[in-house]
Amino acid sequence: MKINVLTLFPEMFTPLQTSMLGRGLEDNKWQLNLVNFRDFTSDVHHHVDDTPYGGGAGMVLQILPIKKALDSLPSKGRVIITAPQGHKFNQNLAQKWSTEEELTFICGHYEGFDQRVYDLADEVVSIGDYVLTGGELPTMSMIDATVRLLPGILGNAASPVEESFSHGLLEYPQYTRPEDFNGEKVPPVLISGNHQKIADWRHKEALRATYLQRPDMLENYELNAEEQKMLAEIKEEEN
Ligand code: SAM
Repeated sequence: MKINVLTLFPEMFTPLQTSMLGRGLEDNKWQLNLVNFRDFTSDVHHHVDDTPYGGGAGMVLQILPIKKALDSLPSKGRVIITAPQGHKFNQNLAQKWSTEEELTFICGHYEGFDQRVYDLADEVVSIGDYVLTGGELPTMSMIDATVRLLPGILGNAASPVEESFSHGLLEYPQYTRPEDFNGEKVPPVLISGNHQKIADWRHKEALRATYLQRPDMLENYELNAEEQKMLAEIKEEEN
């Protein structure tokens, strides 16, 4: 997968070049093309922003440098604008994007974009109901969530399949050594060696974690008969 990022701060993108994603870049499992749209200005001071028509605080990003930077790309794939007013990014979107061959992100800054910039995008996406200084951190989060789903990026191929949100539930609790930490013991079933029992326990605990921490997720989750029984037990155990 090739990912283009139009940004005024390409130097911010080092986190994507470390750890597993960094190894993926080295192994050419994905490519990152950082484009500074300040390079596409024609005035001597390289302005990318201007005061808003009608007055008001702050500066607005102009369309021209962004359009020129986009047009300079040999190909763009799906074009995504980061903006607080976009629809919310989630795991389903990461999964959908991970099947694309190419993505192009446009990072805003200052007071955001001239409205006409939105016509250049296929999608406008937010990472949550809060306002950040720029689109760089949202873009990095979304790239991380997407690229880690590509084949060969994570060490254990099964790990993204069982994670939170991938099946509509949060992940079950995980434990590693020591078996006993200050009297807090690992649930005995996990050291029983009985794979079926472990799978059943994990399934129920994923349901419990979702019920306790994100009950809103259960509103869109269709419980099968076994899960309905599990949930009834969980409710009784928690009361
Ligand atoms: N004036 C804009 C508003 O009120 O909606 C906020 C602009 S914000 C300071 C600057 C840039 O940061 C935005 O253009 C966008 O690219 C990015 N940004 C800020 N918060 C974001 C969020 N929650 N999700 C995605 N992008 C965001």
